[in-house]
Amino acid sequence: MPDPAVSAPEPVLAGDGPRDACGVFALYAPGEHAATLIYYGLYALQHRGQESAGIAASDGAHVLVTKEMGLVNQAFDHAKLAGLDGHLGIGHVRYSTTGASTWENAQPAFQVTPSGGGLALGHNGNLVNTAALSRSLGPNGEKCTTDSEVLAELFAQDMGEAGGTGRGGLEQAIAATVPRLSGAYSLVAMDERAIYGVRDPHGIRPLVIGRMPAGGLVLASETGALDIVGAHRLRDVAPGELVVVDEGGLRTRRVASASPRFCAFEYVYLARPDHRTDETTVAAARREMGRLLARSAPAEADLVVPVPDSGVSAAAGYAQESGIPYAEGLVKNRYVGRTFIEPSQTLRQLGIRLKLNPLRDVLEGQRLVVVDDSIVRGNTSQQLVRMLRESGAAEVHLRISAPPIRHPCYYGIDMATRAELIASGLTTDEIRDFVGADSLAYLPLEGLEAGSGLPMASLCRACFDGQYPVPVPGDTVTGSEPTLFSLDEP
Ligand code: SF4
Repeated sequence: MPDPAVSAPEPVLAGDGPRDACGVFALYAPGEHAATLIYYGLYALQHRGQESAGIAASDGAHVLVTKEMGLVNQAFDHAKLAGLDGHLGIGHVRYSTTGASTWENAQPAFQVTPSGGGLALGHNGNLVNTAALSRSLGPNGEKCTTDSEVLAELFAQDMGEAGGTGRGGLEQAIAATVPRLSGAYSLVAMDERAIYGVRDPHGIRPLVIGRMPAGGLVLASETGALDIVGAHRLRDVAPGELVVVDEGGLRTRRVASASPRFCAFEYVYLARPDHRTDETTVAAARREMGRLLARSAPAEADLVVPVPDSGVSAAAGYAQESGIPYAEGLVKNRYVGRTFIEPSQTLRQLGIRLKLNPLRDVLEGQRLVVVDDSIVRGNTSQQLVRMLRESGAAEVHLRISAPPIRHPCYYGIDMATRAELIASGLTTDEIRDFVGADSLAYLPLEGLEAGSGLPMASLCRACFDGQYPVPVPGDTVTGSEPTLFSLDEP
């Protein structure tokens, strides 16, 4: 479960910990009001970003963008959606990894093309060579404050150099720009007449294609967003693949050699349980990880209690494998979101109670196996164990359905800096003592493979083992921070 950043000098966030870094959606559906369907698609992706939401739409002649800070239902009302006319468009929900959380940095990013048209894009991921790309743009790069704006500038610049003015202009620009990009990106983009989707050569972040009942096509970060608009999943966009949807239908081309390294943490925490991949669902993956955890780290206990929400499926798997009864002993407040709290000691203690409330009548006198998805800084786990003991638990055996997180993510997930990651400096026994549990065990690294159904070589698990699929200068040696790649980089 995410940790409150209790030691931060500034007002901090309840639930600060691993946070998602955006969800994207694109739709081409003749006869439909695209913005309305995109709105519902974004609803299903809300867990991937809660800072801002935006939609761009086109009626075939003009690209219009509306974006606001806040949740999807705060960002849009009927009038705003009605103003976004047209049968194609893209949408985005954001959690900031580069660039501040401001309206200007909300997406879709918009760029006027050299021919006077418009292009819009939405980005899930994080580029690790943003500063170099930005410098290559000259004065235009200086005004960019996010990697997504840099991408929009790069596409427009390429269209200008190529003289690309009509159909094929943005497609060619994306294809020409991809070899210059380094990092994680699942992009959706659009111009007046087409939507585009592209995934980095490693396919680190997800992107899936679906078909609407009447024949339109959808691109989305997760299949839950397809379901909500009635689309059925066709397949994932392949790593290094560019797909284009226009009046001619779907066409696809390879723009980079594929070397799959899908984010293992999507299975552990990020994706919604109903997300489907070629191999499995996220819920099934988590159950399998829980079963494996029960085999590798058994405990003498009376109840298996999940930490909701992302610990639920793993706890069910643990209970199934161990034969220990499953019980809901923690109630989650689903409406907390990103609540700012003052960093006074009293209010820090409130951190976990804002999100979770224990059921004393379930917990009292019981020996508990408590299943959570991750430990980042350790503060939340410490508060959780304390709260369970205060609620009468006789023993607390903490089981984590992921390996220890020892390294930062540079590919679009805001976890913590390396120095803040408790497992980067302490052994499992030391962490157990810090959080105050009777025992503590993590999922073995191989459990990611068993859960996801993907071979280890196809998974990015860099935050667990430090093996970064895209080079990260200086990280493993110096413990540098993700801000290494900020646009302020000299
Ligand atoms: S470092 Fe971790 S969170 Fe980041 S992409 Fe790799 S597996 Fe996912």
